[in-house]
Amino acid sequence: MTTVAEALTEATTERAPTKPPKLNSAAFKEVPQVRAVRDSIRAAVEKFCKTVDKSKPLTRESTKEMAEAVLKPLGLGESCLGFTMVMLTNEFWREQVAAIPFHRRLMLLPHCLKNAEGCPAEYDELGLDCKKCGACEVGDFRTKAEELGYKVLVSEGTPIVLKIIVSGHIDAIVGVACLNVLEKAFDKVLLAGIPCIATPLLSSNCKNTSVDNDWVFESISLHTPVPGAKTKTYVHLMRAANAMFEEPELTRLVPKARQTPATAVAGREVKDPLARHESIAYDFLARGGKRSRPFMTLATYDALKGAPATLSDSGWELPDAAKRAAIAIETFHKASLVHDDIEDDDAYRYGVETLHRVHGVGTAINLGDYLIGLGYRCVSRDRKSLGAETAADILDKLADAHIKLSEGQGAELLWRDAKNKALTTLDALKIYALKTSPAFEAALYTGVRLAGEATSYEKMIADFSRNVGVAFQILNDIKDWVGDDDNKLVSGQDVLAARPTLLLALALEGSSPALREELLHLIASARNAGTDADEIVARVRHLYFAAKVFEKADKLVDKFRAKAESLADEVQPTEFRELLYYLVDSVLEKPELPRQGVVQFVELGK
Ligand code: SF4
Repeated sequence: MTTVAEALTEATTERAPTKPPKLNSAAFKEVPQVRAVRDSIRAAVEKFCKTVDKSKPLTRESTKEMAEAVLKPLGLGESCLGFTMVMLTNEFWREQVAAIPFHRRLMLLPHCLKNAEGCPAEYDELGLDCKKCGACEVGDFRTKAEELGYKVLVSEGTPIVLKIIVSGHIDAIVGVACLNVLEKAFDKVLLAGIPCIATPLLSSNCKNTSVDNDWVFESISLHTPVPGAKTKTYVHLMRAANAMFEEPELTRLVPKARQTPATAVAGREVKDPLARHESIAYDFLARGGKRSRPFMTLATYDALKGAPATLSDSGWELPDAAKRAAIAIETFHKASLVHDDIEDDDAYRYGVETLHRVHGVGTAINLGDYLIGLGYRCVSRDRKSLGAETAADILDKLADAHIKLSEGQGAELLWRDAKNKALTTLDALKIYALKTSPAFEAALYTGVRLAGEATSYEKMIADFSRNVGVAFQILNDIKDWVGDDDNKLVSGQDVLAARPTLLLALALEGSSPALREELLHLIASARNAGTDADEIVARVRHLYFAAKVFEKADKLVDKFRAKAESLADEVQPTEFRELLYYLVDSVLEKPELPRQGVVQFVELGK
């Protein structure tokens, strides 16, 4: 007979999720303050998880439904939901974490556990460099974990964890974090199928917090030599997408044409200019980035081949031609970044100076052009192994994406340089549909076409990519006002660069004629020399809040996301459908909406 847990798991994995459940965020962050309650939830979760299918990663929705099923018989309600979801994911992964050698695990600790007053530790690029002085649990946990062979970081933030996982040195995470941080990590870490166990901090105060120490020590020491059930994971594909850009693999897959060594002239080493140009292009291709587009291609190809790469020990190798096609997708992306940086005169990319700042605008334009050519050649040179028709179809889609991306960028630049800054939401959405979506479409299509016939998927891929890409652009708009971890740290940069954002369009449409005029004037003067950038950003921010643009944009993200998910609902086989759900969840990571407090401060200060 099917148990409740089996039925739930089956229902939530087979049925297509519509939207990520809206969690009452205040409730999500509440940890039961009585230890007996925490123990009872954990015991109930352990019992519940015995029958849960562990072959597929958890989804946010399935975890929430299971948490509700656990809490009901205990007579506990929504206030314990977030905590119970963490307990569930811990139990789901416990066996698999225990089977991973200690030296392949990362211990992640929060700096807010430290003794805030007397801590002698300092911060470096990896986080807090704990001196293990013994004044707080951070040192105790670190000592124990390092004795066993763990790598330990006293840091927060999903990007650094993902980077470490994708680099291939770590296979599991054992952590301590507040529910606030754990909620943010949910989509990126858990849905990717990364084994992890987290002990929640008892509060989210960010200062002198505490935790159930015995639970942390227990999670650090978990060890079993017998591997448990293996959950499907995208980590191997993320690693494959990353490894293609590391030397010597990159040069093996895409051999360099210019091997001329440097020659000595009058005692100085002079490198052949052609080889130098090529090596700058290869360096830039290898540098930084999330590799999300090549991942999409490889994962799509894999999904349509039965998803063997999602199993850790399948021994399945992705063909080189598929890897090269995925590299092609990245070369177009990288070329667009070089050209974008010139167009916006950005100073930094991946934490170092942009190519045009280092080598000059002319050379940088040329490097971008070179990368585009390299991308096309990555596919055309494999036409024999791929089959001429397959290669031609992929090249056609790449060319199509190239044209659409240029159209989107061109429309944006023309608007930026125009005197009239009028903009409708339709105008903004049209541009958005041409910005990220074509690259997503090309990446997915290439994966499908590499695996076989693509005709029956073509429309779905275009529609899915458009909805995900537009939602992604709107999220970028919102992130610009809260700052993010990627390249923008100062809010309001889109205003100063005079970008035609959806937020601006919503504000223009939702403001009185007088405020609309003021907004148009502010945007038109944002790039003028001598204007006070802080003042302009603060005033635009105020007008955006007055027009409620952040809430409106947030609702639009939900709408485009729901459309993408409903398109995925119909997709067969299951492996491809699950990948599309994963892409929606991982690409459309929502930031917290900007808060209005800063505006009040600005107004008071005026
Ligand atoms: S144990 Fe580490 S984190 Fe804690 S107070 Fe000492 S140096 Fe700071």
